[in-house]
Amino acid sequence: MIYFKLIGSFVFTKDITDLKEVIYKFLNENTKKILTKNGEIGCSINDFKIEKNILTIKFESNQLIRAHEVLIRLKKELSNFTGKKFKIGIRDVLIKYFDIKMESKKSLNIKNLPYVKNIEYGDKCIVILFDTESENKITYSEIEKRIPDRIITLLKNKMNDYGGKNEHWELLWESEDKKFKFKEDPTKVMEKEGWIKRGYNRGQWIYGPQATHLFRTFEKITLKELLEPLGFSEMIFPKLVPWEVWMRSGHAQGVYPEIYYVCPPKTRDPEYWEDVKNIYNITKEIPIDLIENKIDSPIGGMCYAQCPSFWGFLQGETVSIDQLPLKVYDHSGTSHRYESGGIHGIERVDEFHRLELVWLGTRKETLEMAEEIKEKYKNIFENILELKWRTAWVTPWFMAQEGKKGLSDMEGAGTVDYEAITPYNNKWIEFQNLSVNADKYTKGFNVKSQNNKKLWSGCSGIGLERWTAAFISQHGINIENWPDKFKKYFGKLPLGIKTL
Ligand code: ATP
Ligand code: ZN
Ligand code: MG
Ligand code: MG
Ligand code: MG
Repeated sequence: MIYFKLIGSFVFTKDITDLKEVIYKFLNENTKKILTKNGEIGCSINDFKIEKNILTIKFESNQLIRAHEVLIRLKKELSNFTGKKFKIGIRDVLIKYFDIKMESKKSLNIKNLPYVKNIEYGDKCIVILFDTESENKITYSEIEKRIPDRIITLLKNKMNDYGGKNEHWELLWESEDKKFKFKEDPTKVMEKEGWIKRGYNRGQWIYGPQATHLFRTFEKITLKELLEPLGFSEMIFPKLVPWEVWMRSGHAQGVYPEIYYVCPPKTRDPEYWEDVKNIYNITKEIPIDLIENKIDSPIGGMCYAQCPSFWGFLQGETVSIDQLPLKVYDHSGTSHRYESGGIHGIERVDEFHRLELVWLGTRKETLEMAEEIKEKYKNIFENILELKWRTAWVTPWFMAQEGKKGLSDMEGAGTVDYEAITPYNNKWIEFQNLSVNADKYTKGFNVKSQNNKKLWSGCSGIGLERWTAAFISQHGINIENWPDKFKKYFGKLPLGIKTL
């Protein structure tokens, strides 16, 4: 249950002391409609007080009709009443006190909620006390913008623990067991053989000719076995992502700890940068502090998920039906994530290489395309890469990010993770995924279809580092031992770069 207590003052355009009786009568007798829902009283109003032109009321409610909702409706009713009868309007509503009590089995570790003065846990309840005094106080305008409801949603999601460690996971399918002869760490063997070298940045690798050829082989297989047969067209999606894209895609709701932020210079005037250049040239040290002062706030970040940047192409557009289902893919650049510490191997890196497929159509078309793609993947992993792999139904990323509770009007939407075992540590890694995103993107980017049918979309991210980790850890680095069909695609191993 959730309980609301709010004290609000209506500021009238004129003194209403003389109207005390009629206004109280109105409040006592004419407000049933706004205090009742489904025949049940959800909110009570009490402690009326009139001082000059100000009427103060205490609202107490449960979640059936939220007190702040009643405040909005009462303002309308009251100003109608006094307006028509006495030509007096309401010019402001002041929030004097506001708290929300939510039942919760556990305390939540939350700090710094906007408009909130204090959050306390006790008696199996979380009590949110709004700030009604300081310059950061909640005002009627925030009430109108449904800020309290967003705070409630946020807390509810925290209680449900969506995202992160408690991601929902449910096995869908698993390939037959395999015996593995190779039991080594793929990163270590590739490093030893000179296929890859550590880059300068954390979680970054420089891929030598052999590893690069392996990546390109994976891409070729995807192209020949999946993208071409299913009619996907290649596009190039931008890799620097401004805030607006993430606001529309929903990533803005939670992706902050993993972003590589991008800051442009305050100006490109060479003179402005003169001191930085001089200091570097004389001291041979980069004056980071000085640079920090000369760059702007982040305008966004480096590519985190590939597909959000695609949607700018269709934003506000109407797609003609004969184009549907629309099928495109991108593999034009890197993705970047600030991953958690202790990233050793290529499985989890800060800079990675990925192909992303995006398709859109009606709900039916989108779901059918997802099934076709899954079939093609199955053929690749079973017959060409010959992997031990499995699929699992997981919390869709947009639920994990946004903490959506149910999928009621999204039936069929969700995410399938593809996982492979890495025998050296006997762990499963997610090497790609496939999501049906319902109308999340088409709504966020306002994309319509010609016949006004609701458009759905799907996407699938193929992580080349992850494919490599899965493949090498199961088949080893000696290409003689690789599956025949794969060898055909791979061809000759390029010469590596030898150093003395
Ligand atoms: P994980 O659960 O391993 O952190 P994720 O669920 O965060 O991965 P997604 O956001 O689903 O990853 O991204 C789609 C695909 O991108 C993943 O299936 C994976 O192949 C690849 N990928 C994501 N993060 C990384 C990373 N840090 N290093 C290499 N590949 C990655
Ligand atoms: Zn995507
Ligand atoms: Mg991740
Ligand atoms: Mg995952
Ligand atoms: Mg994932």
